[in-house]
Formats: sequence, C-alpha cells, structure tokens
Amino acid sequence: PSFEDFKLNRQILNAIADAGYTDPTPIQQKAITPILSGQDVMGIAQTGTGKTAAYVLPMLMKLKYAQGTDIRALILAPTRELAMQIELNIKQFAKYTDLRTVVIYGGLGPKTQIANIAAGLDILVATPGRFLDLYLEGHISTKSLQFLVIDEADKMMDMGFIGSIHRILEVVPRKRQNLLFSATMSELVRKISGDFLKFPTVVEV
Ligand code: AMP
Repeated sequence: PSFEDFKLNRQILNAIADAGYTDPTPIQQKAITPILSGQDVMGIAQTGTGKTAAYVLPMLMKLKYAQGTDIRALILAPTRELAMQIELNIKQFAKYTDLRTVVIYGGLGPKTQIANIAAGLDILVATPGRFLDLYLEGHISTKSLQFLVIDEADKMMDMGFIGSIHRILEVVPRKRQNLLFSATMSELVRKISGDFLKFPTVVEV
C-alpha cells in the first residue's frame, strides 16, 4: 500500500512527499484507516515505528482547516521532549494547511504559552500537569474538543500521571474520538484504556 491509497487530501500527501516518506510503516498501514473512519484506536507500538505520523496524518485530514479559536485536538505526552517532537511532526505535515498548533509543557514560565493559546489554535500538544494548570486558570477552553490522544501511555503511568489524566477526562466533552498509543501493555495501561477508549480498534506491530 502507498500513502495515496488512504483518503488523505492533497495538502497532506504533498507534505508526506516533502518529508521523503515513500511507504507507510506497518503501524501507519493499520491505524490510519480506522482513525479516518472515526473509531477509537489503541495502538501498541514502540517509538521508531512511525507511530506519531500514524495518528497525526488522519487527525490533520479530519481537522482539515483552521476553525474558531479553541482547541479541537489535544495530544497529551509524558515529557517536554516528546511534546516538542510531536509538535514538530505536526507542523511538518500541516505545512500546506492553515491548521495552528501550540505546544505547552512545564519547566519554564507560562507567559508565551498563554499568549500562543490566546492567539487561537486548532491543535494543542501538552504535558498533563501544564495542561491542567493553564486549564484551571481559564486559559484553555475544551468545548470544541473532538480528538484526544494519549501518547506513550505506559510512560505516562510510570511517571504517575494517572490522576492528572483522570482529571483531564472530567473536563473534556463526552462526544469525541480517542486514541491511545503505548509501547507496552501493562495493567495500568489496560485500566486507563478501559476508562478512556470506547469499543477501540486495537492495532499492534
Ligand atoms: P516515531 O515512531 O513516530 O517516533 O517515528 C520515528 C521516525 O520515523 C521519525 O524520524 C519519522 O520521521 C520517521 N518516519 C515515520 N513514518 C515514516 C515513513 N512512512 N517513512 C519513512 N520514515 C518515517
């Protein structure tokens, strides 16, 4: 299969070509179609398998173009480094669209992050603690949220983010598409998946 076989739009296909990707990786082959069709997906895949593009490409396709000022997609990542990496990936594939992405994480002052959110955005990449801080201070509205992604769920659990994730699940709309990626399947990952995903399609590589 090639990227052209998926129902992705021309802007995204051109960005994929610019990135030098010729063929989808196995996790991309398995995950893109169910995500495009609106299903909740649990992906079991290590870093290095192309898991980021596996959810970013169909998410960009579904968001299509900039709309309003509130976040429509939230991607939660356990570390600042991963959050920054995901933001770079999104910007790379969204470059021929007008979709707006902001990244927030702890460890530095929130001023610029707050200003970036206030300027309007479609996609927010966040570490859980910083997301909750800015949400509770009223800087983030979740009323337009359609997509929620938890990346590296096993690492999230190892780092003790389960409480933060549950709080976040309480402040997002009920009707949304959920995606969870994890390198491994532990008891805690199974638990958070059960709380989070609705009738998920499980894809494994
Ligand atoms: P990830 O597993 O998302 O961290 O991706 C690992 C690396 O593989 C990144 O450098 C990606 O840019 C690259 N990559 C992802 N998908 C593809 C693809 N279909 N073809 C070539 N490289 C890819």
